[in-house]
Formats: sequence, structure tokens, C-alpha cells
Amino acid sequence: MAFEGLTERLQNALGKLRKKGKVSEADVNTAMREIRMALLEADVNFKVVKDFINTVKKRAVGAEVLDSLTPAQQIVKIVDEELTKMMGEKAVPLNKAPHIPTIIMMVGLQGAGKTTTAGKLAYRLKTKEHARPMFIAADVYRPAAIDQLKQIGENIDVPVFEMGTDTDPVEIVRQGLTQASLQNNDYVIIDTAGRLQIDEKLMQELQNIKDLAKPNEILLVVDAMTGQAAVDVAEGFNKDLDITGVVLTKLDGDTRGGAALSIRAVTGKPIKFIGQGEKKNDLDIFYPDRMANRILG
Ligand code: GDP
Repeated sequence: MAFEGLTERLQNALGKLRKKGKVSEADVNTAMREIRMALLEADVNFKVVKDFINTVKKRAVGAEVLDSLTPAQQIVKIVDEELTKMMGEKAVPLNKAPHIPTIIMMVGLQGAGKTTTAGKLAYRLKTKEHARPMFIAADVYRPAAIDQLKQIGENIDVPVFEMGTDTDPVEIVRQGLTQASLQNNDYVIIDTAGRLQIDEKLMQELQNIKDLAKPNEILLVVDAMTGQAAVDVAEGFNKDLDITGVVLTKLDGDTRGGAALSIRAVTGKPIKFIGQGEKKNDLDIFYPDRMANRILG
């Protein structure tokens, strides 16, 4: 289960406070030390943890909390609120183009779940908005990637524009966009190549696609299971591409929580969706307050 260890440790630390009728500043400090350790062990970014602990401490040791009738309860509420803030406070909707089509570029490292997520997103748009999305298969390095996208397209009845693996991805995207406007598609979802790690060639290619397609949304797909590495990946892609949002996948696994809690604070970019399974409807909007509640258990 996701966040299992973190939830248990947070509940432990806060539970100790709850047992006391009166809470002293020293009690707060002890609890904060435990929460700090719990967050670091969950692989939350060091600086994010530091800022979080400082803010919670400052709010918690005030007289209006410690002298209140329910100090522990109020501290739990402060922790909840600050966790929510750390993750961006509010859900951020998908960007929309003023005129169709809205162009969404999916980027990410190989294996993060980019193609699967492209499928889930298209399915979501179809079912929730009665949209008419089209895919462009621009990952020309893995022939299997095109087949995978075609299979997904067939499964959810979304057309896939592809030109095999011998054409330059920028040219594929150019022709794909023409096709989309002929077909009147209201969303175009571009599946781009991923690699095992960020490299200059990948970034240059993505930059070229971005320059041509001028996407309304550049969604970076990262694997929550990779913790702090997912945050580094997000920083790298954001620096080069100025992404507009993140999709955090594999939250159905036993991820520790670091990526969910750090990405927004480190990159300034919102997590827009979370992937919670391999099936077509396993994609949910990311609500920071719900996630904070889930983490607190
Ligand atoms: P890509 O290389 O980034 O395009 O990755 P794929 O879309 O091929 O996904 C890699 C693997 O991760 C596949 O086996 C997917 O089924 C799986 N996957 C993607 N998203 C999720 C998710 O949210 N939860 C789980 N459990 N598996 C996922």
C-alpha cells in the first residue's frame, strides 16, 4: 500500500500528542523531530521537509494553539493544512486551447507509464467530456511503442496517427496536426520517446516537437515508486522544457510518498493526475487535500 510506513509514523507521532491533555513546546519539538524523520525516510526532499517543519512548528507553538482546549487536534489540523499546501493546495485542471485542438505532449522516461497514461487520459476525455481525441505516435525509437499505442487506440476507439519509425518525429507531429484539423479532433495527444535517463539528444528532440506543436500542455509522466529520483527527473524536464504539469503513476504500488510530497514544492509545477493502476480508467485528478488526508490516514 502507498504511504504505509509514512502514515504509520505520522500517526504515531501525532498520537503521542493526542494522549496529552496539555501540550508543551517541548512536546511539539519531539513530535516535529519524529515527523521530520518520517518524511525524510519517505524520501521527501530535504529542503521541503525543513521548510515544512519550520512552518508547522511556528504555527503550532503559538499561544492560541498550546493554550487552547484541544491543542493536539489543532496541531494535526496544521500538519494536514501544511501537507496540502506542500502539494499545491488545489487541483489544477488541464490547460485548454482557446480554439480546438488542445495539444497535449506526453513526456517522460521509458517505463514511467507515458503511453499507458496517454491512453488513460484520452479515455478520460472521451468519457467525461465526450471529446474526440487523436494520438500522434512520435516515439520512433521503439517500434513496440507504436504498436502499444495502436492497441490502446483500438481498445478505446481513439485514432492513432503514425508514420512508422523511419520519419523524423517533428515531421510526424507536423503531419499529425494537419490530420487532426482535417478530422476536427478537439484533443491531440502526442506520445513522445522516452529514454532510460535524461540526455541531451532526447531533450533536443522534445524541444523541437514543442517548438513546432506549441502544446497547451506538456505533461511529464513520472513513476512514484522511484521517490526522490522522480523529483530529479521532474526538475530536469522542467528546466529544459518548462513543463506545465506532472502525472504521478503507480500510486497503487507501495510507494513511500517522497515524489507526491516533493514535486510541487521543488519544481513549482502541479501534479495534475495520478495513475493508480494499469487499466484505462485508473487515472484520477490529483487533489492535494485528499492526498494529505490519505497520507495522514
Ligand atoms: P512508457 O515507457 O513510459 O510509455 O511506459 P508504459 O506506458 O509502457 O508503462 C510501463 C509499465 O508501467 C506498463 O507495464 C504499465 O502497465 C505500467 N503502468 C503505467 N502506469 C501505471 C500505474 O499507474 N499503476 C501501475 N500499477 N502500473 C502502471
